[in-house]
Amino acid sequence: MKAPAFTFERAPTLGDAFDLFEAGGGEAIYLAGGHSVVPSLALRLQAPETLIDIAAIPELSGIREEAGMLRIGAMTRHAEILADPLVATHAPLLAMAAPHVAHPAIRNRGTIGGNLCHADPASEFPAVMLALEAEMEIAAPEGHRRVPARDFFVDLYETACAPGEILVALHVPVAGPATRCAFDEISRRRGDYAMIGCAVQITLEAGRIADPRVAFLSVGATPRRVPGCEAVLHDALLSAATIAKAQDALGADLDPMDDPNVPPAMRLHLARVLLGRLLGQLENDHV
Ligand SMILES: Cc1cc2nc3c(=O)[nH]c(=O)nc-3n(C[C@H](O)[C@H](O)[C@H](O)COP(=O)(O)OP(=O)(O)OC[C@H]3O[C@@H](n4cnc5c(N)ncnc54)[C@H](O)[C@@H]3O)c2cc1C
Repeated sequence: MKAPAFTFERAPTLGDAFDLFEAGGGEAIYLAGGHSVVPSLALRLQAPETLIDIAAIPELSGIREEAGMLRIGAMTRHAEILADPLVATHAPLLAMAAPHVAHPAIRNRGTIGGNLCHADPASEFPAVMLALEAEMEIAAPEGHRRVPARDFFVDLYETACAPGEILVALHVPVAGPATRCAFDEISRRRGDYAMIGCAVQITLEAGRIADPRVAFLSVGATPRRVPGCEAVLHDALLSAATIAKAQDALGADLDPMDDPNVPPAMRLHLARVLLGRLLGQLENDHV
């Protein structure tokens, strides 16, 4: 199918984007990499009167370190996340997740801001943002505010970014020398959306775990941290016994959605398998 007719506008500044959105009277949407918007137009899932291209807005670009945080502009393409040395050093979990997002052609155009605002529950980056305890910088005509990742993903395809607001950047606390992380997912074919995915970040000193963060994707309407599992890991020795207890805790933490393709019991089983693999990998790396 072809997309319905629309007007195309390019916003050179944040102020221009807000003005164009206001002028659109609720019938305008922002365009970043277009890899979720354009298919949705072609499938006629939405029919905006105006597409506002936000790619040229300077504040949305660039990756830099600022006061112990890594600032990643919302227009950063998935491929840049994959290749950037600052991301690899300061947010290795994000770099590990990037190859799992779609295929190279999509990673060349898709942006991290568009991905987070689209908030697909099977997307990799939202779960990574939870595990990294990142903050989302959102701009509105009244000014900028920061929203913690745990409050950003509100529901299925719904975020704390209100209509007309723009996600400007993400701010990620930089990894310390004892930070260890792992990411993986299980999908039917490489590059497909995941049936289950998991991001783990811990601090490991003398084999003991501190500040454990475990986030799953594809377990419900939004990505999820698993507090019971994290409580088991906190201040425990990273060992086969701890890993088994952490896997067991998932039964109380997760209540996967009903889905005929991946029934809840199967998804919970896959979650346990994946967590075991990732923690086992961190244990082996440590030995
Ligand atoms: C075949 C295919 C396979 C894919 N596989 C995966 C996958 O495995 N994992 C995965 O995570 N994703 C996958 N994607 C989605 C891909 O990552 C998209 O690029 C991404 O979800 C959206 O990013 P975008 O820059 O293309 O945003 P767009 O499509 O331009 O925008 C997406 C939404 O976010 C809004 N938006 C965009 N940027 C901003 C901003 N800065 N502030 C406010 N609102 C904004 C737009 O208005 C729109 O509603 C796939 C896409 C395709 C086509």
